[in-house]
Amino acid sequence: MNNKDHGRIMIIGAGGVATVAAHKCAQVPEVFGEILIASRTLGKCDAIRDDIRRRYGREIGTAEVDADNVPELVSLIRSFKPDVVLNLALPYQDLHIMDACLETGVHYIDTANYEPLDEAHFEYSWQWAYQDRFREKGIMALLGSGFDPGVTNVFAAYAQKHLFDEIHYLDILDCNAGTHGHVFATNFNPEINIREVTQTVRHWRQGAWIETPAIIEDGSVHFTFDYPVAGNKESYLLYHEELESLARNLKGLKKARFWMTFSENYLTHLKVLRNVGMTRIDEVDYEGHRVVPIKFLKALLPEPASLGTKYTGKTVIGNIMTGMKDGRTITRYVYNVCDHEEAFRETGTQAIAYTTGVPAMIGAMMVLTGVWQGAGVFNMEDLDPDPFMEALMKYGLPWQVVEHTPLPQEP
Ligand code: NDP
Repeated sequence: MNNKDHGRIMIIGAGGVATVAAHKCAQVPEVFGEILIASRTLGKCDAIRDDIRRRYGREIGTAEVDADNVPELVSLIRSFKPDVVLNLALPYQDLHIMDACLETGVHYIDTANYEPLDEAHFEYSWQWAYQDRFREKGIMALLGSGFDPGVTNVFAAYAQKHLFDEIHYLDILDCNAGTHGHVFATNFNPEINIREVTQTVRHWRQGAWIETPAIIEDGSVHFTFDYPVAGNKESYLLYHEELESLARNLKGLKKARFWMTFSENYLTHLKVLRNVGMTRIDEVDYEGHRVVPIKFLKALLPEPASLGTKYTGKTVIGNIMTGMKDGRTITRYVYNVCDHEEAFRETGTQAIAYTTGVPAMIGAMMVLTGVWQGAGVFNMEDLDPDPFMEALMKYGLPWQVVEHTPLPQEP
């Protein structure tokens, strides 16, 4: 299955991230010989297919699939015969798609770790539990091949390999300095996004998880950081899934934190929505109908894939790391800057989807071409960062490494 010149990829989902990944795969026919995009709403797959046909004169296949239905997935995989399945649906579908890949012996890739529908909680344990089954089947599951998680893990692995003898402090900083013209919208799936950012915050220190208030609570931890290109932005401590695998995999690490920028306007809206119960994930009775408020809210908010039309500004995402090199303490900042308007011109959607869809394509490329090989379940930092870093430069997410001053380490 590996070392093929013309691989077959099946992309599941047809939202913002899948749109970008499909475009980027279509741009590399020498690797992605056949592409199928399958999702719950066939019309969205067809719209992506039509845009790809118009832009590149390439034909890709489309199909309707319920990714929570394993037999349906298995039958679609058996008929298309992909070498790799790229899961760009929602975290709820991860385990079902992994089950279908196991049954059919096809490599699996995603960008977000599993989260149960009825519990706003995500962690790797559910997917790491597939280790033996993937190993025995001789196939690979590559977890978190987006930007964060994804590129941020690869940046850490690259720093570990080339820049440091030991990394002691890791800070991942995610800044969206763009404006989309809507009063309130989320940049990726609203339901997943709101579940993520309303959680109690955790960061990792000396082997323990330290809890601090959620970003919308009094006492939330934030500071002003001067981002390259974007300037000063208020950055909030947030729990993010790559902290879990990096804390386990980076030897000598003492502390790992994740920060994300939020505007006052965004936080005020979120606080009000939470206070009136609109972010609840349980069912409530509304005039005899069972309604889940957060799902209803998602139906009212703009589709993330549609935000690109008026989006201007940049994203700046990267890692600041402090540690030892040749007996000296050094600090390095590895980051990428991505432009919303350029992302829109190239793929018809915004930079958050772009910065996720490009690494998703690159992860698939690494696996399809056999540059990354292995049987079992892998996080991104488990694999050689060099070819991935090279591909980021080539396929639209150039990065740089600069010296930096160490970040304050409170809390
Ligand atoms: P969207 O909501 O725009 O797209 C999700 C797509 O999945 C939709 O097309 C939806 O179908 C489809 N889908 C949902 N349920 C099913 C199902 N049961 N069967 C088949 N298809 C289904 O989300 P995004 O594109 O913004 O995000 C996609 C993924 O990327 C998410 O998991 C998100 O967490 C992850 N992500 C990762 C990032 C990273 O850096 N690692 C950053 C941003 C996002 P329909 O159109 O019918 O609703």
